[in-house]
Amino acid sequence: MPVAPTYRPETIHARLGDAFFDPVDAANFPEHKLRFRNDRWAARVGLGELDDAEWVTHFGRFAPLPDNLPKPLALRYHGHQFRHYNPDIGDGRGFLFAQLRDDARRLLDLGTKGSGRTPYSRTGDGRLTLKGGVREILATEMLEALGVNTSKTFSLIETGEALERGDEPSPTRSAVLVRLNHSHIRIGTFQRLAAYGETDEIKRLVDHGIEHYWPEAANDPDPVIGFYRRVVDAVATMGAQWMAAGFVHGVLNTDNITITGESFDYGPWRFIPEVDPGFTAAYFDQTGLYAFGRQPQALEWNLARLAECLLDLAEQEKLQLGLQLFRPVFQRTFGAAVLARLGLASADSESDAALARELFEALHATRAPFEQSIHDLVGGGLPDRLASSPNAAVYERSEMAGVLGLLRDRRQVAGVDDALAAPMSKGQPPTLLIDEVETLWSAIAERDDWTPLERKIQKMRAYGAWRSSFASLPNAATDV
Ligand code: AMP
Ligand code: MG
Repeated sequence: MPVAPTYRPETIHARLGDAFFDPVDAANFPEHKLRFRNDRWAARVGLGELDDAEWVTHFGRFAPLPDNLPKPLALRYHGHQFRHYNPDIGDGRGFLFAQLRDDARRLLDLGTKGSGRTPYSRTGDGRLTLKGGVREILATEMLEALGVNTSKTFSLIETGEALERGDEPSPTRSAVLVRLNHSHIRIGTFQRLAAYGETDEIKRLVDHGIEHYWPEAANDPDPVIGFYRRVVDAVATMGAQWMAAGFVHGVLNTDNITITGESFDYGPWRFIPEVDPGFTAAYFDQTGLYAFGRQPQALEWNLARLAECLLDLAEQEKLQLGLQLFRPVFQRTFGAAVLARLGLASADSESDAALARELFEALHATRAPFEQSIHDLVGGGLPDRLASSPNAAVYERSEMAGVLGLLRDRRQVAGVDDALAAPMSKGQPPTLLIDEVETLWSAIAERDDWTPLERKIQKMRAYGAWRSSFASLPNAATDV
């Protein structure tokens, strides 16, 4: 394999010791058809020069990368699933394949989904459906374009098996996915140690988390509290970014939340068609526990479970104070993220948050199409743009009057030039609603036609490039 100087291998997770993982082998797949390689991120981690055959050797057959983990590691964890504690989980269809650093020297994991059975598979087959893999590509590309801190889909290889699934017409096609994640240390990783009373190992995991992910916490008067506060901050930030993006993750179990607060593990996710706090993504979430509007509470609840795992290492009162950071951080980041989407300069964090809340309330009251509204309101909502929108009638409604006034004031106060909004006014709003996801999938399922998916990825990336250039213009709000 051609090793670029920008390839920076690491094996840091292995240092945690045998108590944290089981070395495993990948499944032998009958076939390897390369369906997606993320060349953008491959270049950033020094793997862009692999040819397709080498790519498949490493990300379909899982030959170790140079100077990296000699064998994949199935990670051990427990978790609360829909509020019920489940000790029978862990990496049941994935493993940690490799670690490396990106161009900003950030430590990253290459983890898998659908790579075969492990000691944690229980009755599962250890496999991922091709449709599940395609859905994960779509979610990660869209969230990245929207500026959300998300894992990246690195590779998708179709593996030629026929899978039986209750939620897809079966038999259905199989695939193995590789994702780039900042970390795979989950709240559930701590919960498993707490369940076994392994305080020394919890301490080791906190120290590891501080050393490799939150080094500034070491300078805190109480580093355990410093660590916890940073996790709270990162997870609240992630939740705020989801809300501003109109994203519903769908399965906010403690095994799906990491200590770096990076959004990952995309199953039944959806984007909202309109602002509706009760909008639920997963068909199996009958009570709407993880509905759009309940995501902040679900994350806060999960963070309380992490605090419980740290009770032997830190004072309860300080942990409680740490958890109380969640709401202010969420409010502030939500305000900043919404303003960034609209390309408006921020005033102060309280009035930004109030404006964002008011906008969401008005959009809820009017049931306006969410992305169309954001699109129309970029730069503060120029009257001629509102009038020419397919959504025009909504802007005449009384429920919108207050927030439209506030947005207009912001535009004047910030001096945002009308020209700022011009490039956006020509385009269509970027959406990724369930009907489109199904249409993109049917082209693959029915005709093995991957062109619509490829085109969609290009479109999302173009939107992402526009959004980040917009967000960095002098008068616009800074990106979050
Ligand atoms: P997830 O819903 O992907 O977060 O997975 C929850 C738990 O179920 C994890 O422990 C997974 O490893 C396990 N799991 C999900 N699907 C499978 C499968 N097909 N085979 C084995 N384990 C699975
Ligand atoms: Mg999971």
